[in-house]
Amino acid sequence: MASPVWHPYAHLLTQATAPKVVGGEGPRFFLEGGETLLDATCSWWCMIHGYSHPRLVAAIKEQADILCHVMLGGLTHEPADRLARELVRITPPGLEHVFFSDSGSVGMEVAMKMAVQYHHLRGKPEKHRMLSLMQAYHGDTSGCMAVCDPEEGMHSLFSGYLPRHHFAPAPQAPYDAGPDEVARDLAALRSVLERHHGEIAALLMEPLLQAAGGLNMTSPLYLTGARQLCDEFDVLLVFDEVATGFGRTGKLFAADHAGVTPDIMVLSKGLTGGYLGHAATLATDRVHDAFIGESPLHAFMHGPTFMGNPLACRVALESLAVFEEERYLDKIAGLNRVLREELLEDEALRRHPDVDDVRVLGATAVIEVKDGSRLQGVAAFARRQGVWLRPFGRWLYTMPAYVTPEVDMRQITGTMKGWFLK
Ligand SMILES: *Cc1c(COP(=O)(O)O)cnc(C)c1O
Repeated sequence: MASPVWHPYAHLLTQATAPKVVGGEGPRFFLEGGETLLDATCSWWCMIHGYSHPRLVAAIKEQADILCHVMLGGLTHEPADRLARELVRITPPGLEHVFFSDSGSVGMEVAMKMAVQYHHLRGKPEKHRMLSLMQAYHGDTSGCMAVCDPEEGMHSLFSGYLPRHHFAPAPQAPYDAGPDEVARDLAALRSVLERHHGEIAALLMEPLLQAAGGLNMTSPLYLTGARQLCDEFDVLLVFDEVATGFGRTGKLFAADHAGVTPDIMVLSKGLTGGYLGHAATLATDRVHDAFIGESPLHAFMHGPTFMGNPLACRVALESLAVFEEERYLDKIAGLNRVLREELLEDEALRRHPDVDDVRVLGATAVIEVKDGSRLQGVAAFARRQGVWLRPFGRWLYTMPAYVTPEVDMRQITGTMKGWFLK
């Protein structure tokens, strides 16, 4: 009998039978029947320590003996308190308050509600819409779908059901662009703000790397400029670092490339090293303190059942400790060197007639093709080489676990190139 599991992003008519994973270790997972696959995607970018990391597994087991769960409404516990302190310590200066939730999408919903309520409490209730960017992806819940790219995004079918927000063009200037090139992107952002700032609560962006919307990479100067524009137009700046957080762009947070502090920042995916679902929405004093007041409207009315789950907080603390003690930023720099050498500097690949662009940032690399159908069959091809790749649209990418050894990294890049340079 077919399995009753309904898989995500799958066409039911054409989907292949999903292989069954029975375990994993380091950058690899194991399939029933003995096959082993090197995971080039670290399970939707979250398993940054790879599979079965002994310290993370032990942390969950230890915490399970003490306390698996308790509500955060009116109560607190050691793992939540400690994790909040750690997140304040490692994130850009000025982010001082932490609201926990259970997934990246919900973390973004929290950010958007916070921004709207912030303006309401300051006497500007008409500032209740978001400004997002084309090519953005912020999650699959309704509120998040409404701020994903309205054309290329996965959610256009729902447009009649979703609230309307504003969109600025996706930034075009690449990571190493100069100020003149970035100025064009900022001018486009300014023009939307000039017209609509009266109703805009917050500018949302995935800083430096628009991930699920096509791995579009941009300049740190864009972040600096966006910060200035937000201040000028009394708009909160929200960084969705769900994908970019915890080293993916080469620094701990994408914001660190620009030395910018957003008003609100959202973390998830890498937060627990992928071992449990969790998220954190951080806010500055300025945002937080607007909620201090006497009216009933001053309470922030949000509270996911599993927010601050002790197991998730405990494993997140362990993940951070491993990240720092084992110098993951150095490991990421090593992966970056291989990605640049093997993909960015490969002339045959870059000049291949089907390839539109090759981009690398931190531990992320993408081969963008001109026509998405060129990627049909690449996942099966990779599997035959022992590699798990999962391209989407026109993008063949890797976001490996940071523990991936150099030879395995070259196996991944070799497989990606091999599809074009057979
Ligand atoms: C994955 C992702 C989300 C959604 O997170 P979920 O945990 O899947 O809800 C939001 N924003 C960005 C940038 C993401 O990559």
